[in-house]
This record gives sequence, structure tokens and C-alpha cells, in this order.
Amino acid sequence: SSGPNNTFRLVVVGSGGVGKSALTLQWVQQYFVSDYDPTIEDSYTKQCFLDDSVCRIEVLDTAGQDEFSTMREQYLRTGDGFLLVFSITNRESLDYVRKLHRHIDRLRDRDDFPMILVGNKCDLEDERQISPEELQRVAAELHVPQLECSAKYRKNVDKAFHDLALLVKKFKAAD
Ligand code: GDP
Ligand code: MG
Repeated sequence: SSGPNNTFRLVVVGSGGVGKSALTLQWVQQYFVSDYDPTIEDSYTKQCFLDDSVCRIEVLDTAGQDEFSTMREQYLRTGDGFLLVFSITNRESLDYVRKLHRHIDRLRDRDDFPMILVGNKCDLEDERQISPEELQRVAAELHVPQLECSAKYRKNVDKAFHDLALLVKKFKAAD
């Protein structure tokens, strides 16, 4: 789709408070931001090695949840790949990314668009509402890879972005 073929536009989506900004900033700046302004939507660029070649990854950290916002439609239409972030401590946040997944499939008219289901806040074991087994079941149903992350402890943060970028690269190469 858009941009030169060594540039990948990743979009971080999910409901408010799940840790989209914390994950993005942990990946880009390597520290945990615990009180990032929930209304700020911003993008970041990072150079990466993917399969031995240098690429440019642009990450859009989205904010707000207006179902009908034209801004949202814009990034859902133009992103190369999506991190579908929910919090393992909040069942509604999983329902929300299921809806987003369906919406993206419809918008992009594919059922294999690059996406990864990310269960963030896995350090909060005492508050867990979604078990690893349920996460695996939902991911299988949606035909997307899944992983649990902790932005706070930087667990699986690099893996989430890197795996998504690899999916995007393969998807673009096959197109
Ligand atoms: P966003 O609205 O999706 O961008 O969510 P934020 O990144 O602003 O995070 C919302 C809240 O969850 C903040 O208070 C963060 O400190 C907290 N948070 C984010 N990620 C984690 C995590 O991995 N573990 C824990 N314990 N808290 C987190
Ligand atoms: Mg945010």
C-alpha cells in the first residue's frame, strides 16, 4: 500500500487506558511512562533490522474512542498493520479489539490483514480477567497471532512490534 516498501506504518489501537502509549513509548524511548496524557495521539519513527535489511517503522499511538471519527477511519484505512491492544485486567477492552478486528477486515476487504492481538499489563496477575487460554482461543478464532506483554516491565514489547513489522513485510511482499 502506502509509502516506499521499506517503510512500515504500524498503528496501535485499543480502548482508553489499556497501555497503548506505555507500550509505544517503551518501544521507542525504552522507559515506562506511567502517566501519559490519554488525549495525545502522536507518531514515532524508528529504524530497525528486519531479516537483515534496514527498514523504517512509523508507529501511530492512537487516542480517543469515537466510533465515528473520520480520523479513526483514516488510520484504519491507511495503516499497514495493527497492534490490537487490550488489558488482561479488563474484559471490555478485549471485546473492543474484537470489534476493531472485524471493522478492519471489512474496511480493508481482507481476512488476513497484518494484526497481532496483545494482552497488556500481564504483570497485574491479581487483577487478571482474561486467562492465557482464553487469549489463545480468541486469537485462533480471529486468525491472528497473540502475545501477553507488560509495558511496565518491558516484557515482550520488542517482540510485539517486531513480529508485527515482519507480518507487514511478508504481506507487502506477497501483494
Ligand atoms: P492508553 O490510554 O491506552 O494509551 O494507556 P496508557 O499507556 O496511558 O496507560 C494507562 C494506564 O495503565 C497508566 O496508568 C499506565 O501507567 C498503566 N499501564 C500501562 N501499561 C501497563 C503495564 O504493562 N502494567 C501496569 N501495571 N500498568 C500499565
Ligand atoms: Mg495513550
